[in-house]
Amino acid sequence: MSFDYDLFVIGGGSGGVRAARVAAAEGAKVALAEDDRMGGTCVIRGCVPKKLMVFASSYREAMAEAQDYGWTVHAGGFDWPSFQAKLNGELDRLEGVYRNLLNNSGVQIYDARGKMKDAHTVALSTGEEVTAKHILIATGGKPALPGMDNDHLGITSNDIFHLPELPKRILIVGGGFIACEFACILNGMGVEVTQYYRGAQVLRGFDDEARGLVAEMMIKKGVDLHVGTNIVEMRREADVDDTSLMTASDATKGLTEDKEAELRHTYGQGKGGPIWVKASNGTTQVFDQVMFATGRTPNTEDLGLDNTGAKLGRRGEIIVDEYSQTSQPSIYAVGDVTNRVNLTPVAIREGMAFVETVFKGNPTKVDHELIPSAVFTQPELGTVGLTEEEARDQEPVDIYCTSFRPMQQAFIDREDRVLMKLVVSKETDVVLGCHIVAPAAGEMIQLAGIAVKMGATKAQFDQVCAVHPTMSEELVTMKTPMRSA
Ligand code: NDP
Repeated sequence: MSFDYDLFVIGGGSGGVRAARVAAAEGAKVALAEDDRMGGTCVIRGCVPKKLMVFASSYREAMAEAQDYGWTVHAGGFDWPSFQAKLNGELDRLEGVYRNLLNNSGVQIYDARGKMKDAHTVALSTGEEVTAKHILIATGGKPALPGMDNDHLGITSNDIFHLPELPKRILIVGGGFIACEFACILNGMGVEVTQYYRGAQVLRGFDDEARGLVAEMMIKKGVDLHVGTNIVEMRREADVDDTSLMTASDATKGLTEDKEAELRHTYGQGKGGPIWVKASNGTTQVFDQVMFATGRTPNTEDLGLDNTGAKLGRRGEIIVDEYSQTSQPSIYAVGDVTNRVNLTPVAIREGMAFVETVFKGNPTKVDHELIPSAVFTQPELGTVGLTEEEARDQEPVDIYCTSFRPMQQAFIDREDRVLMKLVVSKETDVVLGCHIVAPAAGEMIQLAGIAVKMGATKAQFDQVCAVHPTMSEELVTMKTPMRSA
């Protein structure tokens, strides 16, 4: 049977683009369909714009610290529209880069939505139908709302980059990566941030001591974090039957333009007005925006997978084997749509392993073990390997841990603390986990991750000479365990 293409990729994010162009470089005839902007979540509405916002938000504190170091600083406020224009320009540039990478590799681009018609046929939203020997689904994921009444009044991480102006007060719901990162970003930008997390401590799944310190630092830096708390009711403030609450239009009647603008800023963004929220702790509050960071779901809706033999899991994820192959042999899937480890570099590696397996005759499993990652809170949390809690359930461990005020902040009498922690097997001395809470922990954990992935022992860490004076030198100078577990 002859096909239009050797490979058809649905989804132009990190995993899909990489697989498409590497397969094309191997000589395969490849096409890719994307119905939104090329680059996917990471480039367009995730890692990249988020990290640029992290940088933007960090200067307020940096300027205050500079003053304490003796600089004369005349800082004005943060100009969101000016930053946003630059951000949009950068995203346009990156989207162009992704498009060029595909074009230069000879990949045919369809700016259309693709839907599976059968195991080898994709129906495009343009009305065309194309066939391919292999199909790779790399459609990623999307933010999930909690499913409560009026949750459509809230925004998600997809919307945050497009706000015409920053809210004065925002409620962020959730305690995961996205909730904590945006709580810190917006707090840094001068927004009053309240965060509700339904569990006992944010960043569930990370090392307890590490997430405890991140939460403590977030609160110290101004995030009004409430754990064990969720929304029980939310409405437009204007719809609330409580005359003691002023609506934006009531508040601005008969005022001068300047005063009106000021009050509009206080009472909402004009897009429907402020939101009244009742929390599970009994309090009520009004916010200009409510952002739900309550998880993400795989993008498999209306993908036509029921027309093929590919199976979905309980959360809508595509079920694949170690080679990213679905239960329909011609269909593979990589990245967040498979809900394995939802990180950009993992999707890229899954895409590369798929090409090795299918186009290079070299069956390659993706290695999902010991993946370092970072949460870009302020301070950052970098982690690789087992948490203390996971490790001690597995075997006896020694815990090497130190938390201290870093030199840069101690000098100006700041209360910032950092944490360096190693979880070490008692039996083999292998470092099973490394957890860092510190500015630039993401950079540090990339390097510590090499040693941990290589199976380095604590003795081997200690053979490495310290780089002095740094925060991370503690990783090679902790001589005695703080405790055994
Ligand atoms: P997470 O799954 O990490 O967090 C979701 C949060 O929402 C959890 O705190 C969860 O609580 C809470 N939640 C879920 N449902 C509800 C509900 N109905 N009501 C209230 N709270 C709720 O998802 P994120 O969206 O933060 O991130 C998605 C993924 O994206 C991450 O797992 C990560 O892989 C990736 N990511 C990575 C980043 C990085 O590498 N720096 C940055 C951003 C995202 P509970 O804990 O109780 O379940």
